[in-house]
This record gives sequence, C-alpha cells and structure tokens, in this order.
Amino acid sequence: MSKYLKTLLRGTLPDNELESLYSSYDIIGDIAIIKIPESLIHHRHVIGKVLIKNIKNLKTVLNQSNSVSGEYRLRGVDFVAGEEKYLTIYKEFGCKFLVNVATSYFSPRLSTERLRISNLVNAGETVLNMFAGVGTFSVVMVKKKPIKVLNIDSNLDAYILSEINSKINGARQHIVSLHGDARNILQSKNYINNFDRILLPLPEKAHEFLDVALLCLKPSGGTLHFFSHVKSETKKNVVLESEKHIAQLFSKFNCSYQICHTQIVRDVAPRIYQTVTDLFVRRR
Ligand code: SAM
Repeated sequence: MSKYLKTLLRGTLPDNELESLYSSYDIIGDIAIIKIPESLIHHRHVIGKVLIKNIKNLKTVLNQSNSVSGEYRLRGVDFVAGEEKYLTIYKEFGCKFLVNVATSYFSPRLSTERLRISNLVNAGETVLNMFAGVGTFSVVMVKKKPIKVLNIDSNLDAYILSEINSKINGARQHIVSLHGDARNILQSKNYINNFDRILLPLPEKAHEFLDVALLCLKPSGGTLHFFSHVKSETKKNVVLESEKHIAQLFSKFNCSYQICHTQIVRDVAPRIYQTVTDLFVRRR
C-alpha cells in the first residue's frame, strides 16, 4: 500500500517527501492505521483524505503515534481523517470481531497464525488462552472444532470485547472469559491439571508465565503454543535461536518436552522477530 499510497499522493505531495512514507500499515474493518513520519505530519489531513476517497468502504484514518507498549500492548493512535471513531468490525475466516483499536490489542497480521493454530486443535480439547485480548484466537478455534476455551485478559476493555465477540460468533457455549492477571486467576481458581492446550500469545513476557502454564497442563501432558521475541543478525538463524531459548527456559523445570514446530510469525523491528513454538510437554 505504501506504493499505492505514493501513487495516490503523487502530484499532491512533492516527490522527495513521498519517499519518506513508511510501508507498514493496517486496515482493520473500516479503519486504516498508517504511520506518518514526523517530517510529513503537517500533511496528515491531505494523506488521510486521499485514502478515504480512494479506498472502498474506508471510513476512518488514524496515525499510529507510538509503537505497541505497556501491559495491555496498546498502540498510540491519533485521529487523522474521516469519521472520528476507534471501534470497528473486523472479519476473518467467517468470524466477526468487534475491536477498539485504541483501547485493546488487535493485529490483522496474526490471522495466518490464528488459522494455523486452529487447524491443530482436536475436537473435545480443553484450551487455555492465557492472554486472549479480544478473543480472536479462541473464536477462530471454536469455529473449527467443538472445544472448550478459557480466555483470560487483564485489560478490562479487551475482556468486555472478548465476551461480545464470543456472543456475536455464537460461541458462548464454548468460551468462558475472565478478567484479571493470568497467574492470579489460574492459581486462585484452581485451574491446575486442567488443559490439553495452552496459548501464550504475549511474546515479551510469556516466559514469565511458563511455570503456571506447566502446572495447568493435564498430568498426561499437553501442547503449548509459546510466543517469543528473538534477536538475530540473520533471519536464517531465528528458528535455531528461538529453540535454544526454549531449551534454556525449560532447563529450570522438571518436565519432558518435545518441540513439534517453530516458525517466524513476523518481523517486529530490525533484527527482532516474533516466533511461535509448538511443544508437547509433560510434567515429571
Ligand atoms: N491473543 C490476543 C491477540 O492475538 O489478539 C492478544 C495478544 S496481546 C499481544 C497480549 C494480551 O495480553 C493483551 O491483551 C494484554 O492486555 C494481555 N495481558 C498482558 N499481561 C497480562 C496478564 N498478566 N494476565 C492476563 N493478560 C495479560
């Protein structure tokens, strides 16, 4: 779209300024989130209006002013053009999600990963989504297979949206959502020995919750989908680095584990990659 955006803006903005437009952007429902560099911020209204005029069904353009940060993993967004709103409906794989792009985490870039994990789930499983956000992974999984899922998120807005998303996708019978810190909830409500599969989609901090995740797996063992951030000079070493990191983490626990698959989910910064590892783990 950067190319497309540059084509659209050719003649409106000088060529030398167009060169500095970032290539990354997201379209979430009828909202576009673009990254306007500081040097072009005085052109934001023109950029926004051109997008609204040329992209079908687009109602709102926001500028991402901060990268994803804080416990709730929110990106700072500022209104640029169109209708001033932050709430939208995003659709993928026959599911609908109500998303507030300012108050809850959501990334359309994880859709392939949602589909991949949902294809691994087996009917009848009990699944824990430890950092569920607005409930996207859970709804996509439940749409594929008859399973039971427990969602946890510490962000009240994300929790409320996850409840709504379960409802609008007809998945309320299959998904329970809880609001609070994953560790506190899992320990205090006694979810020990409970789950066949656990998702830990919080790459910055998932390792801090590994102890409680292991306790929550059934004694016969279960699958973890462990997300992390890996620094690597070259892309070809990322999987190896990621698995070395897993080996280090698991050396602290009394369990056996088998790595089934590791892959890069996406690049998050220069030489920093988000990875996911699927492992079968059994406590000793
Ligand atoms: N799985 C969701 C998705 O992919 O759309 C959300 C992933 S987002 C990277 C991580 C989520 O973890 C955020 O919604 C954040 O509020 C939540 N979170 C952070 N720390 C938490 C904690 N200690 N307990 C429960 N949720 C937490």
